[in-house]
Amino acid sequence: SPLAVWEKCDEYHNSFLLDADPAMDAALKNSEAQGLPDIAVSPAQGKFLNLLVKTTGSKRVLEVGTLGGYSTIWLARAIPEGGLVTTLELDPHHAKVATENISNAGVADKVDLIVGPAAESIKKLGPNSSYDFAFIDADKEGNLLYFQEAKRLVKSGGTIIVDNVCRAGRVADLEYSDVLVDGVRTLLMGIEGDKEVEATTISTVGEKGYDGFLYAIRK
Ligand code: SAM
Repeated sequence: SPLAVWEKCDEYHNSFLLDADPAMDAALKNSEAQGLPDIAVSPAQGKFLNLLVKTTGSKRVLEVGTLGGYSTIWLARAIPEGGLVTTLELDPHHAKVATENISNAGVADKVDLIVGPAAESIKKLGPNSSYDFAFIDADKEGNLLYFQEAKRLVKSGGTIIVDNVCRAGRVADLEYSDVLVDGVRTLLMGIEGDKEVEATTISTVGEKGYDGFLYAIRK
C-alpha cells in the first residue's frame, strides 16, 4: 500500500537525520498509555517545525491544539531561553498528559498551556503582533477563526502554519464533505484575496498518511 511505502521512506530518512530521542519516545509512550489518540505530528514533521522556528529566529510561538504536547516539545526546543510557547488545549485530560510530557522533556519553563476552548483563550491573548510564529492544529471547524486570530497575534513577517489541509485529497474532492474538510475549505476561502498574508500549501506524505501544511507569512 502507499502508506507502507511512505512509512518506509520516513523511517529510512529518519535513520540518518533524527537523533535517538528518549524524551520524545517517552512522551509518545505516556500519551498512548493514557489513551490519547495517535494524531500528533510525525517525528519528521516535528523536526521540520523545529527547524522552521529556528530558521525564522522565532522566540514567541503560539500553538492551537496541544494533545500530549509532542509538537509543543519540538517547538519549545527550538526557541531560545526566555522564549515562550503558548499552547491552547480544550481537553483537560490531554492537558494533564501534556503537562507531564512537557515537564519530563525539560521544557516546562518555556511553555504556557492554557486549558479551554481555543476560540475563547485565543481572543484573550495579546497584545497584537506579540508572537513570531503560530502552529494551528486543533478542531478544523475553528481553522479560519484561529487563523484570523493568529494574524492579529503574529507580527509582520511572522509565520503561520496550519496542519491537515489536504486530508488524503478529500479537501479537493468536492463530492465529499465532513466537518474536517469543510473547515479547511472555509479557511482557504477566507485566505483567498486576503492581502495581509502570502500563503501556499505543501502536501506531506509519510507515516501519518497523505496530508499537508498550509504555510503563510503575515505581511
Ligand atoms: N499538535 C499536536 C501534536 O502534533 O502533538 C496534536 C494536536 S491534535 C491533532 C488536536 C488537539 O486539539 C486535540 O488534543 C484536541 O483535544 C484539541 N482540540 C479540539 N478542539 C479544540 C478546541 N475547541 N480548543 C482547543 N483545543 C481543541
